Amino acid sequence: MTKIVQDTQAECSLVTTLKSWLINYERLEDIHVSDVMYPRLAILKRRHGILLSDREVFFYTCGRAHHDVVEALVNKNEVKHDVELEYEGIVGSIDVLSSTDEPVEIKTTRVWYPYTEDNIPPGYTRQLGCYVAIANPGKTSGTGKLMIFYICPKDKKNKKEHPFIAVYNVEYDNLDIIRKEMVDTKGRILASMDNGNVLDFEECEGCKEYKKDNCAYKKWCYGES
Ligand code: SF4
Repeated sequence: MTKIVQDTQAECSLVTTLKSWLINYERLEDIHVSDVMYPRLAILKRRHGILLSDREVFFYTCGRAHHDVVEALVNKNEVKHDVELEYEGIVGSIDVLSSTDEPVEIKTTRVWYPYTEDNIPPGYTRQLGCYVAIANPGKTSGTGKLMIFYICPKDKKNKKEHPFIAVYNVEYDNLDIIRKEMVDTKGRILASMDNGNVLDFEECEGCKEYKKDNCAYKKWCYGES
């Protein structure tokens, strides 16, 4: 007879290992594009250290794994991977940069209903816009590519679809404005780092919809732990 016993000790040790692995990716010495996109989180991380709830550990692990596979699909001979560029002390960690300096941003999502061109999360195109602005110094316009990997989509009749990747070309004609916003937000972050009220900054995009419940910092934003 086969006996199966859940090994909770091994599960706990897995969470601990994954947590350390994810925390190792975080760098707090510099200000990154992700910080100017999520200034509240940027300050909380630096004040309280990198905190991850157990649920976040698994969400991020899944996201990272899918992300790395998609990145490996992009032709390695024609592009540079994991490129770090800097503008005014703001570091952009670009997934893929083409030979013509066009950044590619890869996103993975668990949403059921795939986005259309009209309702792609603003944060996706804002982040890509920052990379386009950093990768094209002195230019006022430029383009980037957005790849969205739908891990568990459904069709409108609520039936499961197969996972797929959608690719969008995104044009920007406002790179100067994007650069100015990045620099302004960086200044606000630095000015508030020690004693500023994090609630003076906008909440992270998607917070109320899906991030807050799993966020390890929510007690500083909402007084809940
Ligand atoms: S609770 Fe929301 S706003 Fe606060 S850090 Fe977490 S995701 Fe950002």
